[in-house]
Amino acid sequence: MIKLSNLHKTYYTEATSLHVLKGINLTIEQGEYVAIMGVSGSGKSTLLNILGILDSYDEGDYFLNGKLIKNLSERQAAKYRNEMIGFVFQSFNLINFKNALENVSLPLYYQKVSRRKRNIIAMEYLDKMGLKDWAYHMPNEMSGGQKQRVAIARALISRPKVLLADEPTGQLDSKTTKEVIQLITDLNKTGLTTILVTHEKSVAEATKRVVRIKDGIIDND
Ligand code: ADP
Ligand code: MG
Repeated sequence: MIKLSNLHKTYYTEATSLHVLKGINLTIEQGEYVAIMGVSGSGKSTLLNILGILDSYDEGDYFLNGKLIKNLSERQAAKYRNEMIGFVFQSFNLINFKNALENVSLPLYYQKVSRRKRNIIAMEYLDKMGLKDWAYHMPNEMSGGQKQRVAIARALISRPKVLLADEPTGQLDSKTTKEVIQLITDLNKTGLTTILVTHEKSVAEATKRVVRIKDGIIDND
C-alpha cells in the first residue's frame, strides 16, 4: 500500500536549513497496523504529512497504492488525498463554528455531494462513533474524546484506504486514550491500513508493528 525509498526532506528557512528525513525506506502492506515512534523533533509529523500528501519531499520515491506521489499539482494531490487518506490530528482540527454533523460532512461538501445526502451519510458515521445524539452540538460543548471521535468520523467519511493519525491521543486522558485506541484498532480490523504516530508506549502496544525514527532514518522496525 505504501512504499518509501530513500526519502529525504529538508526544511529551508531564510538563514538555515534542517535536514529532517535522511533516507527513509519503509514498506507498509494493505491492512497493516503500524506505530511510528521517536523523540520530539525527530520528524514523525513530517513523515506522516508526506504520507498524507499534505507536504512534499525532496528526494526519493513515495508510492501510494502503486502510484508515484511526486510533483503533483495541487488538484491531483487533493484528489489522491480525498480518495486514499483519512487524517486525524492531535488537536482535532475541527471547525469551531460548525456543529459535529457539519464538521463530519465537510469532505462530502468538497466532493459536491448534495446537502441532504451528505447529512444522511454524516449522521451514519456519527452513529458509528456513538455520537448520534451529539450531531447538533458545537465542538466547544464536547469532551476531548468526543471531539476526536468527530474527527475520526470526518476522516472516514470519504472511505479512505489509509488512516493516518498524528498523536491522536496526545490531548486525551488515559481512559479516553484507551477508548480512542480501541476504536482505531477496530477500524484497522475492518481492513483499513492504519499508521499512528505516538510517543506513548501503551498506545504503540496496540499495534502489530513499531517503526522508530532516529536522526532522520528508521532506526528500528
Ligand atoms: P516530530 O513530529 O517528531 O516532533 P516534526 O516532524 O514536527 O517532528 O519536526 C521535525 C523537525 O523539523 C523539528 O526540528 C521541527 O522544528 C522542524 N520543522 C517542522 N516543520 C517545519 C517547518 N514547516 N519549517 C521548518 N522547520 C520545521
Ligand atoms: Mg509531531
